[in-house]
Amino acid sequence: MLYVPVNQPRKRMKSEIKTTGDGLPRVESIALFSTPWPLYSRPSIQLGTLKAYLRKRFPDLEVRAYHTYLKVAERIGYKLYHSISERTWLAEPVYAALLYPERAKEIERLFYREARGKPDLQKVDFRALTGRVKEVSDQIINGLDWKGSGLAGFSICLCQLTSSLYFIKRVKQRFPDVALLVGGSMFAGKMIQGLLEAFPEIDFAVNGEGELPLSELISYMNDPEVGRDIHSIPGLVSRKEAKNKKTVSFHQLQDLTTLLPPDYDDYFHLLKTLPPGKTFFPTLSAEASRGCWWRSAGRQASEKGRGCAFCNLNLQWEGYRSKEVSRVVSEVDYLTTRYKSLSVAFMDNLLPARDCKEIFLGLAKLEKDFRLFAELRATTPYEHLKAMRAAGMHEVQIGIEALSTSLLRKLNKGTTAIQNLQIMKECEELGISNTSNLILCFPGSDAQDVAETLRALEFALPFRPLRPVRFWLGLGSPVWEEPRAFGIKAAFNHPNYAILFPPDISRSMCFMIQSYRGDRGYQEKLWRPVKRKISAWNKAYARLKTGPLCSPILSFRDGRDFLIIRQKRLNAEPLTHRLLGTSREIYLFCDRHRGLKAILAKFPRVGEERIVPFLNMMVGKKLMFEENGRYLSLAVRKD
Ligand code: SF4
Repeated sequence: MLYVPVNQPRKRMKSEIKTTGDGLPRVESIALFSTPWPLYSRPSIQLGTLKAYLRKRFPDLEVRAYHTYLKVAERIGYKLYHSISERTWLAEPVYAALLYPERAKEIERLFYREARGKPDLQKVDFRALTGRVKEVSDQIINGLDWKGSGLAGFSICLCQLTSSLYFIKRVKQRFPDVALLVGGSMFAGKMIQGLLEAFPEIDFAVNGEGELPLSELISYMNDPEVGRDIHSIPGLVSRKEAKNKKTVSFHQLQDLTTLLPPDYDDYFHLLKTLPPGKTFFPTLSAEASRGCWWRSAGRQASEKGRGCAFCNLNLQWEGYRSKEVSRVVSEVDYLTTRYKSLSVAFMDNLLPARDCKEIFLGLAKLEKDFRLFAELRATTPYEHLKAMRAAGMHEVQIGIEALSTSLLRKLNKGTTAIQNLQIMKECEELGISNTSNLILCFPGSDAQDVAETLRALEFALPFRPLRPVRFWLGLGSPVWEEPRAFGIKAAFNHPNYAILFPPDISRSMCFMIQSYRGDRGYQEKLWRPVKRKISAWNKAYARLKTGPLCSPILSFRDGRDFLIIRQKRLNAEPLTHRLLGTSREIYLFCDRHRGLKAILAKFPRVGEERIVPFLNMMVGKKLMFEENGRYLSLAVRKD
């Protein structure tokens, strides 16, 4: 049973929890929580995976997963929930105002400041919103049926900090005998100590993934005599030892094949209880790997190569692990069959490079009309993209981040602008929606980076626009670890934390989102023309990619010994270009970016004196892109 009636008496619930010799409760059932603000339309993979693992390891243990964010989203309205959940500084103030009512005015100001440019949020009555959120959250907590349960775990990821702390505080008030544990990507390493010291309601924290440390804690709590010393459970920190703990280790699964498919039953049961008109077909979260192979490869190659310079997504893992192809395919098959939904989002930081094609060939063989989402690197080969499309890939987020090769070098992306344009073109051709980012204002970027970006944008017009995102400093990212290398003079907690939390907490804790002193003003000015150009790109793309067929902006049709290229233009009739014989062959050869040397070798009888002017002419007409002697044809093949 998930919720008992909400008119339960609001009192401290104590006596039914049995304790062991050292005062810790016995664990006959465990409650796992995910609080607002994750995407409401997806069950939490953290909860689902952990539940499946614990059920297998402890068959007699009752494991309940509370996707509380779905209930909150339903109550405040999905549209409003979604708008708030999109930005950290809109999401975190809501529960911060409930945690610290004495700071409510300041927090409210932060909310409205962040809501600038979002008319739907400007109209929101912040106090009424927090009132509704409090009501539904308290109903959930008061409705918890805690008979026999001794342990509650909270998964805290981005945007879930204050909401988790609110639930933790209220759960501890109501059930003081229940041991509370936190985990998730919001805290790692030394940060955990600050968290445990600042919030005495939290008894334990997991560093990294939860399966093994949580299982060992449960074993210990249920049989402390047989188990090891609680302080020696790797990956686990208790509040009592937090102060003296020098290093916090990881304790993670060596092999992901020991995992069962995630158990989303609780999410779907909750969905069924919602009023008619409030239900929907959720997207199922799946995982093929943990960690980042690009970061692991970089580590081996050089101490400096620690993945992308801005990224702190991997603080909770050590190394990279992936599931076998057959396992991934059978899990997706199982989840979609069990929950009768065909939308699947891969939650991997990036899909496994080696097995990617095989996974999607396997999924295509299932003959289900999937709608898939995944994150990829820009080096993903066309053949893999084709296999993804055939399996039902609908949307991808590619690690594009920049359209300047000199900037990509600073970002340690291991890619070039021409590679990025190539994969943008390939997505356009295959009809895969590419919702990738372009990072602006990266510290240490210079006029050359911006000039290269502006030039590449001239050629990117036929492809779906990138989303501009301003650089933010993540704790533990390579930039944060080596600030001077990027012109950063000092790094510190983002000032918004000092609005959300009282001074003793905001000063003593280290938060994931950092701020810095450096070249911020210079960067703002430098990147202004890029912002303007992206805005123009969005407008032009929206106007040109219309019509009943939504035909591509730049496309070609092949006539076997000639080629017709059609180039749509704003406020003018489309241009058409005809390429004959060898010109056609060169254009098709450069469907993937090719070096001049390779082009000359492929067409030895034509000669450099004729090939180079042809290529330059194609670049001048924006039909090809050139970078450092490499050429890429930009038109996509029309079906
Ligand atoms: S941004 Fe993606 S590819 Fe780069 S280090 Fe992070 S997870 Fe890996």
